[in-house]
Amino acid sequence: MAYETKLQYIAQQGIEKAEENDFFLRSLKQHEGAELDRIVHEINTKVSAAIDCTSCGNCCKTLIVNITPEEIKDLAVVMNMPETELREKHIEESQQGACYINSIPCHFLEDKKCGIYQHRFRECRDFPHLHKTGFRERLLGTLLHYGSCPIIYNVIEEMKHKLNFIE
Ligand code: SF4
Ligand code: SF4
Repeated sequence: MAYETKLQYIAQQGIEKAEENDFFLRSLKQHEGAELDRIVHEINTKVSAAIDCTSCGNCCKTLIVNITPEEIKDLAVVMNMPETELREKHIEESQQGACYINSIPCHFLEDKKCGIYQHRFRECRDFPHLHKTGFRERLLGTLLHYGSCPIIYNVIEEMKHKLNFIE
């Protein structure tokens, strides 16, 4: 099955279907969490296998990526750079101590590919989080990225059909 991957089209759909998605999100709350996880996992397995993230990279241009102190340490080793220099150049730290990459698009993005792919952060690996359990608790966050992530867009559209929300 061919999935939609044109970012401009998907962004436009995000605007045009904002109201529909809002209704869909509310309708999903009537379903059991385990049932939703099963449906999302089944669809996501097909969609994420068919969409090549290395031809997209859109999340790397739009997301704030949180990283842990351990990940900063590990990356400093990989980049052969003192941790203090790495933090100064690429990391921002909130007053509460949360660390995140200091640039959007991400500094490590090279064309549409991650320049540190083998060492990318947990949040990068997990996005868009559709393989995890607890989809029902992440509905809002997932729908927020409907217009920017082709995987989310296609999974949500297929869910609408599967759950008879649309014909
Ligand atoms: S570290 Fe790599 S995968 Fe993560 S946001 Fe940056 S470019 Fe994307
Ligand atoms: S996770 Fe979504 S936005 Fe990120 S590269 Fe893959 S398809 Fe694109």
